[in-house]
Amino acid sequence: MNRSILNRRAFLGNLGMAGALAMMPHRAMAAADGGRKLGVALAGLGNYSTGQLGPALKLTKDCRLAGVITGSPDKGRRWAEEYGFPETHIYGYDTMAEMADNPDIDIVYVVTPNGLHAGHTIAAAKAGKHVICEKPMAVTVEECDAMLAACREAGVRLGMGYRLHYEPCHIELKRLAETSRFGRFTKMDGGFSFVLNGQQWRIERELSGGGPLMDLGVYVVQNHFMAAGDVMPVAVSAREEPKERPDFFTEVEETIRWEMEFPGGVEATGHTSYNQRRNEFRAEAEEGWYQIDSAFGYRGQSARSHLGPLEFDAPESQQALQMDAFARHVRDGEPNLVPGEMGRRDMVVIEAIYASAADDGKRVELKF
Ligand code: NAD
Repeated sequence: MNRSILNRRAFLGNLGMAGALAMMPHRAMAAADGGRKLGVALAGLGNYSTGQLGPALKLTKDCRLAGVITGSPDKGRRWAEEYGFPETHIYGYDTMAEMADNPDIDIVYVVTPNGLHAGHTIAAAKAGKHVICEKPMAVTVEECDAMLAACREAGVRLGMGYRLHYEPCHIELKRLAETSRFGRFTKMDGGFSFVLNGQQWRIERELSGGGPLMDLGVYVVQNHFMAAGDVMPVAVSAREEPKERPDFFTEVEETIRWEMEFPGGVEATGHTSYNQRRNEFRAEAEEGWYQIDSAFGYRGQSARSHLGPLEFDAPESQQALQMDAFARHVRDGEPNLVPGEMGRRDMVVIEAIYASAADDGKRVELKF
């Protein structure tokens, strides 16, 4: 049997195992009382929490903001006042274990720098909390494995903050791949880039794990999988482009390009940069094509195909849909579209892209 099919089965098998995490702890079972809004605690109150996730939690129907984990108690108190949760629900990164005694918090959403995701996810799991982890899942596959093991041992669910699975143009991409309406997608290309300025953890390797590939390129990799119908790729090759701002990007790449091979000659190319602007994805099929413009933002996506523009109703908040779906997964047993295993899968690809770029673009076979 074809190795990629075996890989795909193994992957889907893993998802099944995650889905079959029947041994939930007693308290999580008690929370599964259909209809109750589950309590979410945001870990990390930076830009994404402040600008997107907090406001989204004012729109969610199946969960609500019930607490925070922050290094700044003052900030925590401001959030408690704005979102109406008690100050006793403010935790520090070093007091996460105390959440075990708080039945109002069901889910911890990890929104800290990439290099801290593993530690914070494992701490939340040990406190008996389900976890949503922001992308990238961690900075190595080894960390992803430790996170999955910790959640399995604690009997809690792990989901990714992959919001685009709840965005209509991407839902259509997945549907087209699944139904082969235009035939099989055989060629895909995407790019997500912006110009990064200002000193911050994103250019410090220890906290970021890498540059734009970790931060932005992961979305392009996700879209490759969507267009390929979640078939597992077999190999990647990649090259880092020479830096235009070497004094700024001292620890991480500035721009990187890669090619990913899927079985049957399907080719995917991707590009990401912290010093350019690009935000699009195109998939060409045997009988047509499909393109998403402004593909990866919080809003503003538009889609077209060889048949013309497509109209979709944009959701008010991708993040609200994503968090509600995870809450229903925990509470009602709905399938998890974006499980931790998917975050690990993407990290296997990212590690291989870096390995290839470090080895003069050598073809690196993927082992999932
Ligand atoms: P940010 O720098 O604005 O916020 C990071 C938060 O982590 C801050 O509140 C900071 O105080 C806290 N933190 C805790 N320990 C820290 C430490 N040792 N060093 C630095 N900060 C520390 O970053 P952000 O843009 O909010 O990104 C946070 C995470 O969310 C990242 O993993 C990022 O990839 C992800 N993210 C996802 C999306 C998305 O669309 N899904 C968008 C933006 C960011």
